Formats: sequence, C-alpha cells, structure tokens
Amino acid sequence: MTKQEYKELQQKIDYHMDRYYNQDTPEISDYEYDQLMITLKKAEAEHPEWITPDSPTQKIGGVAKREAGVKVEHHVPMLSIEDVFTKEEVVEWVNKVHSIHPDASFSVEQKIDGLSMSLRYAKEGEGMRLTLAETRGDGLIGEDVTANALVIPDVKQKLDLSFDYLELRGEVYMSHEDFERYNEAQEEAGKKLAANPRNLAAGTLRQLDTSITAKRGLRMFVFNVQDGPLDFMAQHGDALKQLEELGVPVVAHKICKTAEEVCAAIDEIGESRGELDYDIDGAVVKIDHTQWRDEFEAGSKYSSGHIAYKYPPEEKVIEMDNIIVDVGRTGKLTFTGEFHDVETGKPARLCGTSVSRATLHNQDYINEMQIGIGGHYKLFKSGEIIPKLNGCVKAPEVVFEAPAVCPICGETLVREEDTADIRCVNPSCPAQTVRTISYFASRDAMNIMGLGETLVEALVKNDYLENYADIYELQNVRDELVEKGIVGKEKNTDKLLGEIEKSKNNPPERLLTGLGIRNVGKTTAKSIIRHFHSFEALSQATLEELTAVDDIGEICASSIYEFFHEEQNVEILERLKSAGLTMEEVDSSIDDKFSGKTFVITGTLTTMKRQEAAALIENHGGKVTGSVSKKTDYLLAGENAGSKLTKANDLGIQVISEEDLQTMLES
Ligand SMILES: [Zn+2]
Repeated sequence: MTKQEYKELQQKIDYHMDRYYNQDTPEISDYEYDQLMITLKKAEAEHPEWITPDSPTQKIGGVAKREAGVKVEHHVPMLSIEDVFTKEEVVEWVNKVHSIHPDASFSVEQKIDGLSMSLRYAKEGEGMRLTLAETRGDGLIGEDVTANALVIPDVKQKLDLSFDYLELRGEVYMSHEDFERYNEAQEEAGKKLAANPRNLAAGTLRQLDTSITAKRGLRMFVFNVQDGPLDFMAQHGDALKQLEELGVPVVAHKICKTAEEVCAAIDEIGESRGELDYDIDGAVVKIDHTQWRDEFEAGSKYSSGHIAYKYPPEEKVIEMDNIIVDVGRTGKLTFTGEFHDVETGKPARLCGTSVSRATLHNQDYINEMQIGIGGHYKLFKSGEIIPKLNGCVKAPEVVFEAPAVCPICGETLVREEDTADIRCVNPSCPAQTVRTISYFASRDAMNIMGLGETLVEALVKNDYLENYADIYELQNVRDELVEKGIVGKEKNTDKLLGEIEKSKNNPPERLLTGLGIRNVGKTTAKSIIRHFHSFEALSQATLEELTAVDDIGEICASSIYEFFHEEQNVEILERLKSAGLTMEEVDSSIDDKFSGKTFVITGTLTTMKRQEAAALIENHGGKVTGSVSKKTDYLLAGENAGSKLTKANDLGIQVISEEDLQTMLES
C-alpha cells in the first residue's frame, strides 16, 4: 500500500463512520466495515510513521476506548450560575444592568438538566475541526471525553468557520425516550435502574467504551461561545444564530429587552416543561452583550452577567381514595393508589398530564409514607415522568395494611426476608396461572397466535390448563373442545392446535423467555442460550457459571438457579421435552433457505427492527449488504423507502415486504 492509498482508505473509513454514527444510515455492512479497518490496521503496523492522531484507528469505531481520568485544564473556567428563586430578584438584577447600560438586552434560555461539556475547535484547511471535548470537572480542570463526544451526533466534528480558535460550551443530556429505553432493558436483565436522565447522561459521557456511549444515545445543546474572535461572540444571540445556521443544535432562547419581557419568557419556558422530551431545571438569563458581563460579578464560583431562575417544583396535594392490591405474574403483590386533587376534586394536573394513580411500591413504603384512605399527600413527578408521593400532609385514620391472604386465591401470603416484597407462592393461584400461561404464549415468548388471556382464562376455568406444559396436551382433547366450543368451532380449534404445534419449533430462547423466570426477559434469554446452547446445560449450571454470563447479575442468576432446581419445574420441563419442544440451539446451517441470496434492507420496518430482519435473513443462510447493486437478489423495503428502492426498480431487482419475507420463510 502506498501512502496515498493509505490516506484514501482513511477517508473512506471516515465517510462510513460518519454514515454509521452521525447519520444512522450505514451504506456497508458491519462486516465490510471491519474488513476496511483490518486493512488499515495492517498498513499502520507496517508503517507506524504514517499514523496521525485523527486516524480512524485512533478514534472511535467500537474498538477505541476512551482513556479514563485524563485531566485537562480549561482555557476559560467553566463556572456555575447563581440561582435566584423569585421574579423580584430577576427584576432587580435586570434593573441593575439597565442602570449602567440602559440599552442592554438579555437572552432567556432553557436551563437543560444535564452536564456541561466544552468543545475546542481549531483551524484545519478551510474550516475548523473538533480537537478536544472536556467535562466541567471542578470548573478549572475537567476530563478529556473527546472519544465519546465524537459519537454524539449533535456534536459537530467540523465547523464551516475559518477562525483560528473557537470554544463552545453546551449541555449534554439524555432524552426521556432514550432514558426509558435504557431502564426497560436494565429491568429486563435484572440490573440496576438509573435514577434519572442526568445521572445516566453523566455516566454515559464518562464511559470508557465509546460503542456503549454511541448505543445509549446522548444529545447536546450549545449554549455559549466561551472563546473565539471578538466580533463573532460580541452579541451572544447573534453567535447562537450563526452556529444554528451551521447545523449546531443550540439551546432554545429568546432575546428580551425589558424586565417584563424577561419574566414573560421565563414563564413561557416554565409552562413548556411538560411537553419537552428532556428535563430542564430552570431558566438562564444572560446579558446579550458579552463584554458587559464582567461588570456584573456574582462571586468567584459563578459566571458574571448570568442568573438562573429556578422554578418551584410542580406539586399538588391529593387525597387517597382507594388502594388496589393485585398479584403479578411472579406472585408479587402490587399496590396502586387512586386519588384526586384536593383543590379541584379531579385528577391532578402535573407537567401537562392528568394523574390519578401512582404505584405505592410495598408495605414498607406504605408505612413510611403513612398511606391510607382519606390521607392527604404531596404529589410531584420525579424527573417529570413518574408520579410520586412526596410526604404526608394529613395522616389517614388508619395506615393501609396489606392483606394476610392472597386477594385472588385466599392462600396465606409470604413476606420475603431480604426485600419488602410480599408474594403469593401458591403455584396454582389462578391469578398467576392465567398470567403465567398467557405470558408463555405471548408474542415475546412462544408467540402462539390466538392463545390470549381471555382464552387462557376460559381454559383454566374449565380445568384444561393448570400450567404451560398442559398447552401441548390440548390436542388430546380436541373433540371435547370442539363440542364445548371453548375455542370456537372445528376450524378455530384446529387453527389454534396448529399454532401450538408450530410453536414447538421455536428457537429455545423463546421457550426460556416464556418460562417467566423472574428477571429473565427476551434479551437476557437470548444471551443465556447463546452461552449455554441447551436447556440441559443450563439446568446444570452453577450459580458462579450463571453469574459469569454477560448481562446476568446476581439476582437474576439466583432466580434461574432456583427455577431449575425446583421439583415442580423439573417435572414441567420434562413434559415440554417429551412434547417435542426445541430445547437446544439449532445449528443455523441446517436451514439455508436463503443460501447464496443477497438482501438489502431499506425504509422503516413495522413488524420488526432492521437488525432483527437482518438476523432472520442471516440465520437462514442469506447475506445482508448495505447498497443495492446488480448482485442484490431482494430489496426488503419498509415505509418511506428512498433512493435504494428507485435503484432496485431501475435494476429490476425483486422488491419484497416484511410479509413476503415471512411467507418465503414459511414456504
Ligand atoms: Zn394467590
């Protein structure tokens, strides 16, 4: 390889990296991408003198790890902003500024609840390039997080400006959607949940593995020019506008002249709180003319020429009307409080939504909060998402006491030793039987079409089902079922039995999910099967072996261990095995339906994710590539398919839908 070829390869990888990380529209498969990286690394091993700090091998791409704890001194200290809590203080401050600069204007901005990061850009060629990203740290010294900043799509790696130097400051945050997605996956894996989006954003920005940072999804709003040419940063609002025109996401802001306008803008931000997809914890008021800021010092810790208005927490007082006790699939008792707003008599309005129910967690929580019917409590939305009680205002006559027996089956309840959870451990408790069996048949698990909760309930009531192994014996009572018409007439009954038969061929991770072991969801089940390959091996695994699997915490490991060592479960598993269910990982080469066929996926799929579609194709011996060419056999096109669809039509390539793909697999 010549040096010229090496440079071209670098550019090619840079291009694909950008498609992948910043545009989310990769053009080549991961495999092809890896091959390019391997070639690059080989060239660098032969010519170490060619390596520059901006080589893809030195940056991101899943392999690069950020180095922990590399300290960087800030060029401009990153100070915090002095808080004020009343509008009077805001007016007073605005008047003080106006008394010296009567024509001063102010920028009123959302104060995003995340963590600050500053970005340094230096001249490169005709434009500017990101050279360093650092956290706030103690304000004087921060931590180098450049590798992670590079995988945040909002962080521009290049700016179409030709200054020698520019430093921007912004807030890194996580959207509610990404936060909830993370916590759902954690919950499914039996792992610790993140407390709020801010903490998770902070942890994610300081992650060592940049691929994790890229996956979790961080965002950033720029809110200040810290350093740069004076004429660029003289008027704060103008600078933000120019940055916005260059594609830099800047914080929502409004330029105001009078104290009245400033207060109105603050109120406007306050009212929008409930509709935002991220948390804010106040409004910032800044002097727009940046050179005047230093005249209004606010103590050594604080930025001059800034104040932050803190909104009072949105809180309502509610009266408890009812406490509902229910039994979950795992037998755990759940408590839900129903209430109304004391002031309006209606559901409480918080952050733009109506709230009339909240989870009461467990008996310890109920005791601590003195929860009972008729009691008054403060209610707020934690992280502006989940409604939470925040202290008792008026105690009820009696604090609620969990029942001693299961509200569904009447069996005595058991309080677990280490936790505050109360459970119904009666394995034939109807609440659990119906839910456990329905879950087994559900879409995420065995996906037995037609076997929904209502039908399961009817079959349990008529003594046809007691546990999920009984599902596979329904065929023995076909005529009886038809006669009684529980499922329907002949046609529907046979259709259901056909679905049940079909489910025997499901991959074993579906079965494992369906067993409903505590803390073992779809994702965890997949990792477990990938690790142990068969139920046989899994049932013999020790606690240590289980804990060693990625994604499995101690709690999850012991649930699995306990499940496979309980006599009743062993019996059920035996029955499932003799019914002929797939309990071993199937060698994927057995089915090579798509062998030799090349697929391209485009557009938005509705029944599955792109990766799932790709895995499905690959599991059946097909190949998935990123771009349409003459070699492409099928284009799997979802909604809003663009240029790839046009190209496929031009080349006369067969275009298929998700349904077509399923039909092809089933034929
Ligand atoms: Zn029960």
